[in-house]
Amino acid sequence: MRALVVGLGVSGMAAAIALSGAGWTPVIVERAPARRTGGYFVGLFPAGKKAADRLGVLDRMHLRTPVDHRTWAVDAGGERRRSIGFLDQPGQPEGTMRGDVEAALWAGLSPDTDIRFGTGPLSLRQTADAAYADLGDGEERFDLVVGADGLRSTVRRLAFGPDDRYLRPARSMICTFSLDAPVPGYSASDQLALVEPGRALWVFPYRDRPPTALFAYRARDVDAEQRRDPAEALAARYAGMGEPVPWVLDRLAHAPERLFDSVWQVRMPHWHRGRVVLLGDAAWCLTLYSGMGASTGMMGAAALGDALTSGLPLPRALRAWERTMRPTIRAHQLIAHVKGEGFVPSNPFNHGVRRFVVGQAAKLLIRKPRPAIGLS
Ligand SMILES: Cc1cc2nc3c(=O)[nH]c(=O)nc-3n(C[C@H](O)[C@H](O)[C@H](O)COP(=O)(O)OP(=O)(O)OC[C@H]3O[C@@H](n4cnc5c(N)ncnc54)[C@H](O)[C@@H]3O)c2cc1C
Repeated sequence: MRALVVGLGVSGMAAAIALSGAGWTPVIVERAPARRTGGYFVGLFPAGKKAADRLGVLDRMHLRTPVDHRTWAVDAGGERRRSIGFLDQPGQPEGTMRGDVEAALWAGLSPDTDIRFGTGPLSLRQTADAAYADLGDGEERFDLVVGADGLRSTVRRLAFGPDDRYLRPARSMICTFSLDAPVPGYSASDQLALVEPGRALWVFPYRDRPPTALFAYRARDVDAEQRRDPAEALAARYAGMGEPVPWVLDRLAHAPERLFDSVWQVRMPHWHRGRVVLLGDAAWCLTLYSGMGASTGMMGAAALGDALTSGLPLPRALRAWERTMRPTIRAHQLIAHVKGEGFVPSNPFNHGVRRFVVGQAAKLLIRKPRPAIGLS
């Protein structure tokens, strides 16, 4: 049984590993000319680590959480106080780069996997017992097509219809990139959260590489915003904020790679149609705010492998797979809205609620140094 896997990201590679494990022969196509590296901060929660373990790649994954990280809430004037942030959440997510997760999956692919770069499906057609994809050289026959080609998926467009049926705007923008040094005045293991109504800057630390920065801000017209030069857009949106914002903005010009993008959630009534199945961001993009996109991509792939070894005929196996995944995904899609307000509150009221909640939680979670007991 041959499966076409579209996309060499976390979900595509995880799917290829799971398909190989289920006795299928995956063919991966990737639009980019080569495998990408680097990326941005990705936190892996226990469920994602468990899925990585099931796929046999957890031991290869470079986890980079600093041993003794501290989190600082920094206000617009640059004043700081101890707080809690992404890395302090229940489950204590591990800090990695997206490239670390992808490198582990890449190493976990069967060495004889057919991987074709610089190509993708131009058309898809299905009959009762096969799916046909034109990859640029005429139609090729497959038993299954896995669309793991991300938020703006071509497979979804070809098999399920246009993006505007499924993409829900989160009305926010992000810009993320690697810093070349720790933020001046802070240690390399400090996590920073500068959170104001409608705009935020987060700095994520690692134990063995410089931190990454994430600007997240609310915008009504994200399409217009995305056409702007990132440096100009950020300078305008973060005007009036004290250090370290100007220093971090200055580093943007030196960053070798950056991602400036609008934020969307993907909501679909079905993730499979006939012999085409969507996985990861293509099917259910949760938004970065959930912190579960990479994890659920691997969970979905592992579950797909289980479904394909269940002995059920393909349509029933795909239905069973979707039934298994849907409650988890639905929950994370709902939670993502709440977490989004934690990352970048959309209004002053939510900002006030966030301050109160984070303040109370910080009081409980931050261990104060014990007073020395004098023995004299
Ligand atoms: C700033 C940021 C922070 C994040 N933080 C976290 C986090 O803390 N924890 C977490 O779990 N997740 C996080 N995520 C989400 C996570 O990165 C994604 O959910 C995950 O990487 C999605 O993987 P994917 O393989 O489904 O899609 P993608 O990563 O989008 O991969 C799709 C692949 O398909 C290729 N492709 C696209 N179109 C075609 C085509 N037509 N033909 C062939 N190939 C094609 C692309 O080039 C790409 O290689 C974050 C995301 C962002 C943007």
